[in-house]
Amino acid sequence: MGKIVRALSADGSVLCSAIDSSDIANEIFRLHKTTPVATAALGRLATAGSIMGAMLKAEDDRLTLRVNGNGPAGNIVVAADYMGNVKCYADNVNVDLPLKPNGKLDVSGYVGTDGFLGVIKDLGLKEPYATQVPIVSGEIAEDITSYYAISEQIPTVCALGVLVDRDWTVKHAGGYLIQLVPPINEKAIDFIENNIKSMQSITEMLSQGKAPEQIALMGLEGLDGEVLDSWECQYYCNCSRERTEQILLSLGHDELKRLAEEQDETEVCCHFCDKKYSFTSAELKKLLEEGERG
Ligand SMILES: [Zn+2]
Repeated sequence: MGKIVRALSADGSVLCSAIDSSDIANEIFRLHKTTPVATAALGRLATAGSIMGAMLKAEDDRLTLRVNGNGPAGNIVVAADYMGNVKCYADNVNVDLPLKPNGKLDVSGYVGTDGFLGVIKDLGLKEPYATQVPIVSGEIAEDITSYYAISEQIPTVCALGVLVDRDWTVKHAGGYLIQLVPPINEKAIDFIENNIKSMQSITEMLSQGKAPEQIALMGLEGLDGEVLDSWECQYYCNCSRERTEQILLSLGHDELKRLAEEQDETEVCCHFCDKKYSFTSAELKKLLEEGERG
């Protein structure tokens, strides 16, 4: 289980969310068999998605993040619910890149730096709220910060980290997001800047055994921060045979008919969790009939 903690400054002007997403990142590695650089990129985006999803208000609200920087990863997609439960995939998770000169995984080399970060919030309205901003660094955290600055005009600091072990499992993963709540308290900015300078990287703090509560409060040092709420979240895919049937129907009558006639068995694989759903030709034909009636 991952753990999200949210803390608020005494005057209510600064919110700091922190998450230990080690289990989520490990699940990404287990399900998608990602190379270390892909684990780091998907893990960082899923960590951001989890924090941002947790800011949604209503139970049915959904958040989708999509990054495409024209790098070898292709699209990286993260979907989150309002509890910060996430699922994700990338077009290509089998990329191996040399480490950067500083010994770190080359996430920006994997993601690419020429493209967009898209944010879609489905808030149950007629149209989902969708926006995209140019990728700044391809390292994900800066791209999230830039999204908040450009699209929401909210001064935000975002830090994300995934530490991959020698055996390719995830040792630690996590992140924090500090956000000014309007009306902006200018004095709080100085405190936050100092706090960020004195905080080590998120994976270092987790390695030292710091809990997300402590990390969230460190972000609010000097501002009398208090923990607002905290809960567990996880990698979670809500796919099912029924949903898969809907996806098949959405292909359209002709395509579904072609599948039913051309092959004895059609297999549909969930991008997010690799679960396979298999339909016989007869089952597809039945689905076609039901689709026509419905
Ligand atoms: Zn699934």
